[in-house]
Parts: sequence; structure tokens; C-alpha cells
Amino acid sequence: MTSAVNPPRSGPRAITRTLRSVTDLLDAGLVPPTQAPELEQVARQYATAIPPAFASLIETPDDPIGRQVIPHPSECHTEAAEDPDPIGDDALSPVPGIVHRYADRALLKPLLVCPLYCRFCFRREHVGPGGGVLDDAALARALDWLRTHTDIHEVVMTGGDPLMLSPRRMRAIMTALEGMAHIHTIRIHSRVPVADPERLDAEMAEALDTTRSMWLVVHVNHARELTPQARAAIRRVQARAIPVLGQSVLLRGVNDTPEAMEDLLRAQVAARIRPYYLHQLDPAPGTARFHVPIREGQRLLAGLRGRVTGIAWPTYVLDIPGGHGKVPIAPDYLHTGPDGHLRVRAPDGTIHRLARERG
Ligand SMILES: *Cc1c(COP(=O)(O)O)cnc(C)c1O
Ligand code: SF4
Repeated sequence: MTSAVNPPRSGPRAITRTLRSVTDLLDAGLVPPTQAPELEQVARQYATAIPPAFASLIETPDDPIGRQVIPHPSECHTEAAEDPDPIGDDALSPVPGIVHRYADRALLKPLLVCPLYCRFCFRREHVGPGGGVLDDAALARALDWLRTHTDIHEVVMTGGDPLMLSPRRMRAIMTALEGMAHIHTIRIHSRVPVADPERLDAEMAEALDTTRSMWLVVHVNHARELTPQARAAIRRVQARAIPVLGQSVLLRGVNDTPEAMEDLLRAQVAARIRPYYLHQLDPAPGTARFHVPIREGQRLLAGLRGRVTGIAWPTYVLDIPGGHGKVPIAPDYLHTGPDGHLRVRAPDGTIHRLARERG
């Protein structure tokens, strides 16, 4: 009976265009019809986008890929510990598109559009297709701010996702930054290489070619995201002598087991990506289902120490709520013993006294 009324479900593997609406998700069989009313409510607050390449990786809606991008009714439930601006960026913006917290570097956010919308995003109140691109005048003001702040040596392009710009606009920004003698380093944080790899084509790779020290930081949370297509996109950038780093968010149900974390770190190294940061989840509204306690994150990493190559070891970081900055929160290997000498914990858990070290 239902098949006469509903079109046959195509299933995630047949998806050929970006899923954006509750209807798209229902048609793809990724959400149950019973959730539709609540998901319409979520959709009034938060954008959804699942590009075909990412959708094709979803085996079941609650798997490590699906969890990251499929909206969930719990997103409307905000807990007391959650904050719409969890890392205090809003107060640190001297002009639109710039966030300045640290002496030598500033964020440049040329747009608020992303290839997909992560359900755990710390900027989820801001990003979305309606968030748009800085118009020419606003971009010029942001670049002027960078031009006149000669203490800034590094521009961290983020957003939204900077690789959602057209190659022409990206090139224009690169040219403007190359004209500022005090800018030594340009860094791009992006999810495009895994979310929509075709977008990082030869033209975009060429737009990124610069005389400055250029780095790409890819946001990747599960080994399965590093598909052959994603790796090819990353190679187009690496071929221009641009080092590629990885950043991941520690997420319940995505990468919170020793096996999933080990696979994620190894998959990055296999793609010549140096894991840079493992982020503690920021307490953005409606993200409680992804929370992993810091103590658990420390135990997870400590369990991989010694087992996984040191070049795969990320810095576990917390962005202190309230805009106080990022700090490392790695497992602690040192403590002071009763005799005042330091004790160190080995990867196998044994404790060793350091005869020369006090304090
Ligand atoms: C995270 C962040 C940076 C970059 O920090 P690194 O530790 O250098 O990666 C710069 N500015 C702001 C406001 C940030 O939140
Ligand atoms: S790609 Fe980054 S900015 Fe965009 S939704 Fe995901 S975490 Fe947020």
C-alpha cells in the first residue's frame, strides 16, 4: 500500500545531489517519518547539507558518518552548560570577517557557507547558506584591518569554509595577502577535501599557490572520510608543496573508541596528513549527544601512546569557554612523589622515579 503512495526510496548510495531539506532526508531514507515535525523545527534554526560524496559513505543513519551530518530532534534541546558562542569569538571581532584573539595571528572568515553542516559545530548559530559571503566592501575592510595590523604574521582562513569560495575570489584574497609584507603564513581550515573533494580541483589548487608559507588544515573525524577521491584532492594541494595537517573533534559515536581513533590517526598519516589538533567538543547548543568527557578523552589517547607512531599523535586541545583561548589537555604523565621527586608514567602504565627531577 505504501509503495503506491510513496516513491521508492533510492537509499543513500544512489544520492546524486546535496541533501538539504527534511523531505530530501525522508526520500533518502536517512530519517524516520515520525521525526519529521521535530526535524522541521531543527531546520528553522540550523542548516543541513549532505553532499553526495559524503552521503554515499553513510551505511546506517547512526553510523560514524551519518551521526555527523544528519539532523536529530535533540538539537532543539539546549542544556544549561551550552552556549550559542561557546568560545567567545563574537566579542573578539574588530570588523566583520576578522576574529583576533592571539598576538601574532587572526582569523579571516570570508564566508559562512560550508560544504556540509556538522551537527556538533561550535559556530552552528552562525554558519549556513543564508550566512553568505562577505561582500566586496566588507572583504576590503577585513583586508584593510589585516594590512594595518603589522603584528599579525599569520592569517587563518576559516568560516564557514574558505574552499567554498570561487577560485577567482580565493586568488584575489591570496594576492591581497601577498601584498602585506608582515603576513608570513596563510593557513586554510577546510572540510571540503573530505566533504566535497571535486571542489578542490586543479583550478582551486592553483589559486592556493603562493610565495607565502601556506598550510592546509583538513577537518576529518573518521577514517572512512579519507576516500580515494578525498586523497586525490589532498594530493593536488600537496603537489604544490603545501603541507596538509589534520584536525578532528572527539565525538561520541564517531571516533570515541580506541579502534576508531587509531584508524583515524593512521588514515591521516597514510594520506600524508599530520594530525595537528584533536578538539574537545565545544558546548554549542543541542550537541550533548556528541559529548565525550575530557578524562575519557585523555584515557583514549593514553591507550594509543606507544602503540601508534608518534607522527600520528595530535595535540588534544580545549577552547576554554568564554573566549580564554585554546590549551593542551593531553594525558598527564608526570606527578610528584612523596619524596619530592617527579614520577613518570610509562606507556605500559608502570611508574618510574626520576632521580634528577624535583618539584
Ligand atoms: C583556534 C584559533 C586560532 C588558531 O590557533 P592555533 O593554536 O594557532 O591553531 C587563531 N585565532 C583564533 C581566534 C582561534 O580560535
Ligand atoms: S565545516 Fe566547520 S564551520 Fe562548517 S559546519 Fe562543520 S565544523 Fe562548522
